[in-house]
Amino acid sequence: MNVILFGPPGCGKGTQARRLEDRFNTIQLSTGDMLRAEVASGSEIGRKAKAVMDAGHLVPDGVMIAMIANRIDQPDCKNGFLLDGFPRTTAQARALDEMLAEQGLRLDHVIEITIDAAVLAERLAGRFNCARCGAVYHDKFQRPKVDGVCDVCGSSTGFTRRVDDKADTVKARLKAYDEQTAPLLPYYQAREVLRRVDGMGSIDEVTRQLEAILEQA
Ligand code: AMP
Repeated sequence: MNVILFGPPGCGKGTQARRLEDRFNTIQLSTGDMLRAEVASGSEIGRKAKAVMDAGHLVPDGVMIAMIANRIDQPDCKNGFLLDGFPRTTAQARALDEMLAEQGLRLDHVIEITIDAAVLAERLAGRFNCARCGAVYHDKFQRPKVDGVCDVCGSSTGFTRRVDDKADTVKARLKAYDEQTAPLLPYYQAREVLRRVDGMGSIDEVTRQLEAILEQA
């Protein structure tokens, strides 16, 4: 099953994608996570992407398309994937169509997680991740069960906060979403694959809505 999760930064795409992986025997492909891994490794891509990401802008299409083309070719994607953060531009959406067509694959669902703009800043400002496995937490909405210990991997090596979750960068990221990514929604709506879920509920409520859609595959 191949799925795209859409929605602005902070709507819960990453949190939800991670929850759906096991249940649907699929894999989360987060281009943001892939880029952060490139930055952490000090690769050439990472060095070039860092400044762009820290400013809240989009990394060039050519880099992103090559990254996803390589990734979906890997054996662990054979059961399907949940795209989280890709495509973000018209050029990326077209390239994805071509990649899928070449491999005889199709998009089963394109799901937009809708959310009031007013809550996004609060969600992003309180967000932190396990430094080891990347699991996402929140100061208010999703604290680890035991302070300082990751619920998912059990690590107590620490947590990190994303540089681009700072208020000014968040503004630039939301602008990039509105101007470059939201215009893709009609593209998928016209193909009658677009569904919407209400991202304002609790994490469990949003998961239940997504599961209801994916069960129909
Ligand atoms: P995310 O973790 O999805 O919020 O992505 C973090 C940052 O990585 C974004 O603000 C962009 O700078 C960059 N990025 C992630 N995915 C893409 C993409 N598909 N196209 C361009 N830039 C991306």
